[in-house]
Amino acid sequence: MNTDGIANRHLLAADGLRDLQQANEQSIRIVVAARWASSCAGQLLASCLVNLLCRQVRLVRHIEIIAPDTPILIKLPSGDSGNRFPACLGSLAAWAVNGAVSVTTLRTTSTVNCTVFIGEAPQEPCQGHRLLAVGDGWRAWVGDPSHASQSVLPASPNPLGPFLAAALAAGEIFKHSRGIRRGRLLSGDGYSLWSGASSRNWMDLHDGPAISGTILPPTHIVGTGAVGNALAYIIANLGLAEGYLVLIDDDHYDDTSLNRCLLAGWLDIGQHKVHAIGRALKARGIEAFSFLGTIKSYTADVRLGLHADVAHEVDDLVFSVVASCVDKGAARQDVQGLHPQLLLGGSTLNLQAKSNLYSGRSGAACLACFNPAGKDGEKMRALEDQLRRMPDHERREFLTARGLDAEAIEEYLSGTQCGRLGEAALRDYVVRPPADFSAGFVSLGSGLLLASALLRNTIFSADSPARGDMTTLNFLNGGLGDSGLGADDNCQLSCQSKHDGKDSTANRRWFI
Ligand SMILES: [Zn+2]
Repeated sequence: MNTDGIANRHLLAADGLRDLQQANEQSIRIVVAARWASSCAGQLLASCLVNLLCRQVRLVRHIEIIAPDTPILIKLPSGDSGNRFPACLGSLAAWAVNGAVSVTTLRTTSTVNCTVFIGEAPQEPCQGHRLLAVGDGWRAWVGDPSHASQSVLPASPNPLGPFLAAALAAGEIFKHSRGIRRGRLLSGDGYSLWSGASSRNWMDLHDGPAISGTILPPTHIVGTGAVGNALAYIIANLGLAEGYLVLIDDDHYDDTSLNRCLLAGWLDIGQHKVHAIGRALKARGIEAFSFLGTIKSYTADVRLGLHADVAHEVDDLVFSVVASCVDKGAARQDVQGLHPQLLLGGSTLNLQAKSNLYSGRSGAACLACFNPAGKDGEKMRALEDQLRRMPDHERREFLTARGLDAEAIEEYLSGTQCGRLGEAALRDYVVRPPADFSAGFVSLGSGLLLASALLRNTIFSADSPARGDMTTLNFLNGGLGDSGLGADDNCQLSCQSKHDGKDSTANRRWFI
């Protein structure tokens, strides 16, 4: 298999992007300032940036990292990559995308399209476009080095700020090569994931509390695709004293997943999505229970091996903390149907990353609002009609061209008893969503908003600032803002009826 499929999703059309790619495959130089190279924040930022850029196959061709040689202070998702930084970063691209993008840690004199300075930038001009990326604590700043208001020292092992800076820098490189119709390139933009504020001036950005050494309550992560990967990537690097995650997904990685699933590598293609995540968490001492199935089958299953305290709660249909990272309407309905005590969700649309707190307040949207379950039955009947009307040879061609098992489906259509395989294959095809645009830095953006909301509402719930339920980060124009989302009058779970004095147990019954 070649690596072209990795580029599949980020080359699709998306709102705000030009139809034709503006630049040829780019060559990027990353220069890490000395005191950043020997800090957790600098190593987290640089490694995350390489992890993101090497997945921009066909937009990025080559990455050169220049940094003083220092001992490695962090763990990479690629596993054991030696104990020296930046040498360890070379193996990251080989692991992630089978070398589709080349990475060197040797200084060359070759021409590059963009130079990203991490931490500090020299005054003298350099080749190509210049970007400075700074991330420390809960804060990140990305823009033209001449707009940096002061020099920042890396002080915190918190991955939130460094990962946000990496996502923003990777987003700028992506915007340069795909080209934008609207929005703007970042010129000097800072953000705080603690306060939700954005400012050009680093001093205006409030830092949040230290996370290292804290205890995250047991959390269910439903859906371990791109946003689930990003959330686990962040949690794995928080330095938690204790954490227990339940990972639920029935899906596998394919080559098109690799542009955005940041804990998965080339050898994970064909493997269950939960496995790569469980592996990365375990490497950081965080326990996880992996369930290879849907959320519906999880509640019905015996869940062998699940921690006793969580198992008892689930037996009683009590879900304390749930992070929804699923992307289908039906699955969102199922997650909302669990009525978690704390329910958060992360999602992406084009270049926008979003997180939501589903508070259950009157008038506020639930996770099922605006997410109707697909009308699979109707679509299935329409497709069956269409197939039955086709001449035999045309039907066979139609099925084969779509990679469907023609023989099994013929058997199903002929009405024999043994047509169940064919029925399942057809249903799978009907519910398969059309491929949407997606990119790794947007998924990581959503994971960062979601992780911050999770931390603010659990470990730091007593002293976190008042924020809106919904946070959006738009990579197209650098906008970060909080808002609320009103309930959907046509919500299939009728979430507002309980606020009208009707029997609220109706919703729970729907799920069971
Ligand atoms: Zn609703």
